[in-house]
Amino acid sequence: MGESVIPLADLRYVAPVPEVPAHPAAPIGLLADRLGRPLRDLRISVTDRCNFRCSYCMPKEIFDRDYRFLPHASLLSFEEITRVARLFVAHGVVKLRLTGGEPLMRKHLEELVRQLAALRAADGTPLDITLTTNGSLLARKAAALREAGLRRVTVSLDALDDAVFRRMNDVDFPVADVLQGIDVALAAGLTPLKVNMVVKRGTNEGQIVPLARHVRERWGAQVVLRFIEYMDVGSSNGWRMDEVLPSDEVRARLHAAFPLEPLPPSAPGETAERWRYRDGGGEVGFISSVTKAFCHDCNRARLSTEGKLFLCLFASSGHDLRALLRGGFSDEQIAGAVGLIWGGREDRYSELRAAHQAAPGSGERKIEMHYIGG
Ligand code: SAM
Ligand code: SF4
Ligand code: SF4
Repeated sequence: MGESVIPLADLRYVAPVPEVPAHPAAPIGLLADRLGRPLRDLRISVTDRCNFRCSYCMPKEIFDRDYRFLPHASLLSFEEITRVARLFVAHGVVKLRLTGGEPLMRKHLEELVRQLAALRAADGTPLDITLTTNGSLLARKAAALREAGLRRVTVSLDALDDAVFRRMNDVDFPVADVLQGIDVALAAGLTPLKVNMVVKRGTNEGQIVPLARHVRERWGAQVVLRFIEYMDVGSSNGWRMDEVLPSDEVRARLHAAFPLEPLPPSAPGETAERWRYRDGGGEVGFISSVTKAFCHDCNRARLSTEGKLFLCLFASSGHDLRALLRGGFSDEQIAGAVGLIWGGREDRYSELRAAHQAAPGSGERKIEMHYIGG
């Protein structure tokens, strides 16, 4: 018997069609899963394509010219995404994050933002709509996104040094263009802006202090820098624990350069531990999904590019909502199906990490980050 034989691209189609309840009125409204966690945050992947090949996400050797990305017809349309989002909002979702792949590669994304920005939470307040991007197209698109109703963005930026940055994106993209994208986004009013740095031991650990210094000096408190532990997401990045630089170590290095003090969490289910510079230079965050799991209050669901609902970043299969959207089901029926799915959720991968590692040759593979969305 050889290694796992399921090609990555085909995993996307492994998804049960959700059960539609016979009496759909019952499970609509605020939800809690089996561990009592509400559903508050929906992350929507709008494309599985990307113009970068970050080795921790879409390594070049696998995501090459022959890789089969999803055909356009299988992507959810903007109208389908908005319909799903509306049903999730009826279940208590207050935060929407557009992601991918690289979301700014999806044509006319501002049209989707406009549709989503018209939705209202159950109490009539506008939703918190945000977007995670590699920043490469931000300078061109920030103003239109802001005008369409986007309020905030998160930009992924793993290094300040141009050579390190080009090596990490693996397509020779210059860091100056991303820095300019952040300038333009701030000028367009997309504030406060978050910058996410994935820290890999031996690759960009030397960039922690230089990037923090740049953020402090150039943007001050307008930008919150967050350090993310390198995660074992997907099955193609060759993740190894010895390449994870624990947040405690990142914080110690930063503290030695710029003394820090802790801040209280701002919202339940928040992924980042918040700290601030003692000199008033702004805030930083640490996302420790490997060393300090935060599953106990995880209130996030993920909608893949082709409409599969995933209950955990580390899931190996999703629930095929697109089959319902395109199968003539009513809003009540689809919302009822979502209620049943969330009600049965008991995922807590990070907490169970050791036990959940796919056994070599077992064929169990986790969904890739660029497909499910970060
Ligand atoms: N392309 C956009 C970007 O890079 O911001 C959005 C999608 S990307 C999958 C979302 C986030 O996931 C990024 O901040 C990226 O750095 C992070 N990410 C991807 N693979 C990761 C990994 N193995 N460990 C930790 N973070 C990862
Ligand atoms: Fe693309 Fe974002 Fe993945 Fe990098 S992390 S390859 S930019 S989707
Ligand atoms: Fe949520 Fe799964 Fe991450 Fe735990 S491992 S925090 S359940 S997405």
